[in-house]
This record gives sequence, structure tokens and C-alpha cells, in this order.
Amino acid sequence: MKTTQVLCKILLLFVFTVGALQAQEIDFEQKKVLLVYGGWPGHTPEIFAKRMNSWLEAHNAKVIVAEDTSIYADETVMAEVDLIIQSITMSNIKMNEAKGLLNAVKNGVGIAGCHGGLGDSFRNNTEYQYMIGGQFVNHPGGQIAHSVQITQPDDPIVNGIADFSLTTEQYYMHVDPNVNVLATTTFSKEHDDWIENAVMPVAWKKTHGKGRVFYLSLGHSDEIFDVAPVWEILTRGIFWASKSKYEASEAWMHPVY
Ligand SMILES: [Zn+2]
Repeated sequence: MKTTQVLCKILLLFVFTVGALQAQEIDFEQKKVLLVYGGWPGHTPEIFAKRMNSWLEAHNAKVIVAEDTSIYADETVMAEVDLIIQSITMSNIKMNEAKGLLNAVKNGVGIAGCHGGLGDSFRNNTEYQYMIGGQFVNHPGGQIAHSVQITQPDDPIVNGIADFSLTTEQYYMHVDPNVNVLATTTFSKEHDDWIENAVMPVAWKKTHGKGRVFYLSLGHSDEIFDVAPVWEILTRGIFWASKSKYEASEAWMHPVY
């Protein structure tokens, strides 16, 4: 074989290896995950829960599925779970349920989720928003083509994932300045000209007490989870959040004004 042919093959192998999205090895090692769904049916929470339950069980998690927030008031369940995944858009939460949820996370239970199921739940509960680190306020233009930029490529949740484009809701959120932003999107002037060039977090991680919190703003409809980087970021974020009882907490203060 000529040297040029060998070099070409090496180059092609390199391009393929770098270009392909490498799914991260995930093993929950029998950790207990509470999967809670409900709320506004437009976000098809039951379909999300089925997809997530299958994936969790395939990756060695012990899953408890609940169809409403009443389980948050069950102190026994909340003390033994490692992670909560929630998909409840809007809806309401009772005081004792919110207290149970917030206390569990403060004590080291992780919480993770996406889109309105975590970032637009219980609009009248500011303590909940304080925990998540952001609240949906609009998606100008509805379903629109836009892109997502990875801002912390060294973080394991987004490592090896390239910037990507998709057509779905581009969430405009009110965001806690002390979240660790992993990916962003930039708004155009097409639908609301006063937000032109606004750079908005799409994925972040934070802590609330001892508990890890992971949020991804993508996830309007079931087919969005077939977009490889969307599912990869969500599942890696979920895995990260599942470990707050077992790993040291990470410290950050962002941004420095
Ligand atoms: Zn939506």
C-alpha cells in the first residue's frame, strides 16, 4: 500500500472517530430513582415517563414510578431514593409535598429533568424555582429552527458533543446567575426584536443544599429525544445528578459580576 493511501485511511479514521457521538457508559448500580410525571398533557408526560423508565431499567436503576406529586410527602420513599426525575408542566403542588421534595434535595437527593417538566412546574412556588435555578417565561415563534452551542466542552455531561441545530421550542427563561451553564442558544430578532443576540442557557447544573440539580430546556415532544445530542446531554445530566449522595459536591460561583 502506498504511503498516501495509508495516510488517507488514518485521516478518515480520525475524522470518523472525532465526528461520531460517543454514548457515555452509564450504570446506575441499582440506585433508586423516583420518576414522577403529570401536569399539562401537551408535553405528553406519560410517553416521556415510559421512554425514561425503559432507559433507566436498561441501565441498572431501580425505578419507582408515580403519577402525581403526593409521593413527595412520603418521608420513607424520599429518604431512600437517590434521584428524582420529574416531568410535570405547570400544575400545582401542595405545601407538604413541596416541603418533602425540597427537604429531600437539600439532604442529598439529586433532581433532573427537562423542558416544562422541570423548568415550568408549579408556577406559584418560588421555593421550587429557587431549587431548579430557572423558570420558563416564553418561547418566541413556537417551533423554530435554532442552534445550541456547547460552552463547557471539558465537562463530562457535554464532553465530545458538538454544537447542533434543531427545530423545536427555543426556551426563553429567567435563570439563576449561580448555575453552571453547559450549553447556550442565541436568540434572533425574528419574533421579538428586543431580544436579538440574547444568549440563553439551554443546559445547566447546580446544587441545592447537598443535592445535585440538572436541567435541559429542550424536550417539547417525544421525537426531540431521538436527536442524539439531546438524549445524550439529558441522560448524562441525569446520571451526574444521581450521584450527589456518593460524590463530593462541586463548587462554583457564576458569573462574577
Ligand atoms: Zn413545550
